[in-house]
Amino acid sequence: MSYPAGAVDAERVALIDASAIQHNVRTIGEYVRPAKIMVAVKADGYGHGALTAAQAALAGGADWLGTAHVAEAAALRQAGIEAPILAWLHTRGTDFAHAIEQHIDLGVSGWEIEAIAEAAESLQTPARVHLKIDTGLGRNGAARADWPQLLRRTVEHRERGLLSVEGIFTHLAVADEPDRRETDEQLAAFREALEIAAEHGITPDLRHAANTPAALSRPDAHFDMVRVGVGVYGQSPFADRTPEDLGLKPTMELRTTVANVKRVPAGQGISYGLTHRVDRPTALALIPLGYADGIPRIAVHGPVLINGRIYHSAGRVAMDQFVVDLQDPDTEVQVGDDVVVFGGDSGISAADWGAAAQTINYEIITRIGARVPREVIG
Ligand SMILES: *Cc1c(COP(=O)(O)O)cnc(C)c1O
Repeated sequence: MSYPAGAVDAERVALIDASAIQHNVRTIGEYVRPAKIMVAVKADGYGHGALTAAQAALAGGADWLGTAHVAEAAALRQAGIEAPILAWLHTRGTDFAHAIEQHIDLGVSGWEIEAIAEAAESLQTPARVHLKIDTGLGRNGAARADWPQLLRRTVEHRERGLLSVEGIFTHLAVADEPDRRETDEQLAAFREALEIAAEHGITPDLRHAANTPAALSRPDAHFDMVRVGVGVYGQSPFADRTPEDLGLKPTMELRTTVANVKRVPAGQGISYGLTHRVDRPTALALIPLGYADGIPRIAVHGPVLINGRIYHSAGRVAMDQFVVDLQDPDTEVQVGDDVVVFGGDSGISAADWGAAAQTINYEIITRIGARVPREVIG
C-alpha cells in the first residue's frame, strides 16, 4: 500500500500497514490450517510496534502471540491484550511470579522449571509451561541427554499442583533452506522427544516446531501450531522466493524527504573516510536517515526511490544521514521530494537493503530506530 504523495507530515516515518499484517496471517493460515498460529511479536513486533502487530495479528486470526521475554508479554497484557501469550527466553532476573499472575505461558528449557515452581508455590497458582527440547539448533532448549530429567522434575512439580504442561516445542535451524536434511533430523528428534514425554505421562495439546520458513514449506513440521514472525511482516525467509511468490504483502514502508540537493564537481568525496569519489560532475541528495535510525553503516549502494526513480547510496552511511548520487548535475530532484527507502509500492524491499548490508531482511526491519515514528495505516 502506498501513501498519498505529500500527505506525510513527519520528517521520517515508518508506515505500518495493519491490513497487510492481517492479510499475511490469513495467507499463512492457508498453508497451515488446521494448525493453530502463534505470531511472534517480540522485538517490538519486529520493529512494527508490538501492540500494533499483536492487534493486527489477532484481527487476522492469530490464535497465540509469542515473545522472547516475559517483560514483552507483560507489556502486552498491560495494554489490554487477553490472547494467550508464550514467552521463552529467561534469565535469573525474569519475574516468573508476574508471568503467572498475568497468565503468560512460559517456555522452559531446564533450570527455569525450579524457579517457576517456586514462584507458583508462593502464589499458590499453577504456572502454564511449554517444555522446549533442543533438537539441533544448539541454542535454547533442553539438551537431549537432559530431557528425561526435565520431564521427571516437571512431573514432580505437576503432582504438587504447581504447573500444567500446555505444550512441547523446538526450534529449527535451517528451514529457510528447505532441501537440507538437518530439518528431517530435527523433526525426527522432536518426535522422539514427544514419545519420551508421553512415556512420562506428558502429552500436551500443543506440539510446535515450525517458524515461517517451515510453516510455508514443510507441512510435516506443522504439528498443532506454527510460530511465525517474519512472514507475518511481509518478508520472505527464502533467498530464492519473493514475498509476492508466497502471497505476502509488505507491512512496513520507510519514508522521508530529501533534506538537501547540490551540484558537485568530478572528484568530490562523499562522507566519512572518503571511501567514494564521484567520477564526473553530478548532484547529490542528502537523505536524513542514518545508522541511528537503523540504516546499516556497512550498507553499500543501498537503493532509494525518489520521484519514481531508483537511486543508490554513495559513501558511508553516517549516524543521521546518507548521501545518494543523483547521477545528473541537472537533476530535477529537489529539496522536499518524497523518498522511499523500502516498502510500499517502491519496488525496494527490506531484503534489498539486507543484501546491500551483508545481512537479512529480518535485521533491517527490526532495527529501524526509536527516532523514526511509526504511523499505522490500513
Ligand atoms: C522468532 C522466533 C520464531 C519466529 O521465527 P520467524 O523465522 O520470524 O518466523 C519462532 N520461534 C521462536 C522460538 C523464535 O524465537
